Amino acid sequence: MKLSQKPKIEIIAIGSELLSPFQEDTNSGYIAQRLNDLGMEVSFNTIVGDDRINLLQAVKTAIHRSELIIATGGLGPTQDDITREVFSEALGRKLVFNKDILREIEKRFKQRRLSMPEINKKQAFILEGAKALKNKNGTAPGILLDTEKKTIVLLPGPPHELIPMFEEYIFPLLSKSQTIHIHRKVLKVASLTESKVESLISDLYPQYPECEVSILAYPGQIEIHLKSRSGTGMSQAEKNVFLLEEEIFQKLKENIFSSTGEELEEVVGRLLVDQKKTLAVAESCTGGLLSSRLTNVPGSSNYFLLGVVAYSNQAKTNLLGVPSSLLEKHGAVSPQTARAMALGIRKMSKADYGIGITGIAGPSGGSAQKPVGLVYISLAEGNRAEVTKNIFPGNRNIVKFQSTQKAMDLLRRSLLNLAPQGYSSTNNLEET
Ligand code: ATP
Repeated sequence: MKLSQKPKIEIIAIGSELLSPFQEDTNSGYIAQRLNDLGMEVSFNTIVGDDRINLLQAVKTAIHRSELIIATGGLGPTQDDITREVFSEALGRKLVFNKDILREIEKRFKQRRLSMPEINKKQAFILEGAKALKNKNGTAPGILLDTEKKTIVLLPGPPHELIPMFEEYIFPLLSKSQTIHIHRKVLKVASLTESKVESLISDLYPQYPECEVSILAYPGQIEIHLKSRSGTGMSQAEKNVFLLEEEIFQKLKENIFSSTGEELEEVVGRLLVDQKKTLAVAESCTGGLLSSRLTNVPGSSNYFLLGVVAYSNQAKTNLLGVPSSLLEKHGAVSPQTARAMALGIRKMSKADYGIGITGIAGPSGGSAQKPVGLVYISLAEGNRAEVTKNIFPGNRNIVKFQSTQKAMDLLRRSLLNLAPQGYSSTNNLEET
């Protein structure tokens, strides 16, 4: 396989199910990721159903515009598996019978004490001049056609067949053509908005033209993606990213909670372990999501003592000791209730930290004073409790998720002795 300096690469995912909501095309993302690892980028990614005319059009277009085409799916024995035939027609190359492949397919059936159905013979035909790629996990062999100008790779659709074949035959071939090295880094930020992050670091971009920066907003989290490419080897690409990363760290400081892929729950877990501190949480509108996320981290039993989902007022009173007079006076969604929940769970569990969350996740239940998305989060340490007021946008699940992000970031900042960011703090509450 001989590719040009910057080849046009196209992935075609074939299968009608991939155009339905029931089957996501994961193969293309996987292949793109592995190509990126080699500094190669995908120019086109097409999904086509099992329709001969549409597929022929897509394949002809790909042959016309791309140097490397990797197609997945449609290599099975049934009538709707038409990939071989369509490539044969588009390329003007015959399909030729390969008796070694047939023997392999027959062997697979024999191992399972079955006789091979006649229709599987179809899979023993490959494009003239192409190489068959052995499929250890299925009957459909892959096909590799390497010509002067184009390279065409056909792989089966099931990921457990495609991935090992891509790794065994295609990745090593492609790595021989690698000329560009790409290094990537993702910095994760909590409690700052996308525009705030952009305004803090955008003046750095012109100083590092060899780095691409993209800022991506996710619920409760902003990610800064840094990417550098180098023709002189990986260490140059790494150096380019490292220099910009250092400067971004100086600007954003501990607002960056991760640069190694860690999630917020892993970061707070590590800090709690390091400082030998423990935690208990009392959740209302998040319905246990915070406890669930915290306990997704292996080893969380070292610091997570107790999680209570207290949805009703009665549960808040009976389980957490929130006075009913307080609930009557201020309501369940109030800074006072959040604070009493955090203090209550901390006291009851004897943990170092207590978190209380109460809010309106929606879609109903909001009012002018207390809109959907209003969530009070309190962090208690000893007899002190800090309360934050947040109004999160988004649907019920997003509001719940963002609440857990904020709660964990509040704890993270406390563990690092930082002031809370991006919160309107309501610390001076009327005592109850
Ligand atoms: P086989 O004969 O082994 O089934 P095939 O090449 O004919 O191979 P398909 O029939 O196209 O494969 O797909 C079989 C299954 O593989 C699909 O039902 C789907 O579950 C999975 N699959 C196919 N393509 C993709 C894709 N792009 N991403 C994720 N899964 C896929």
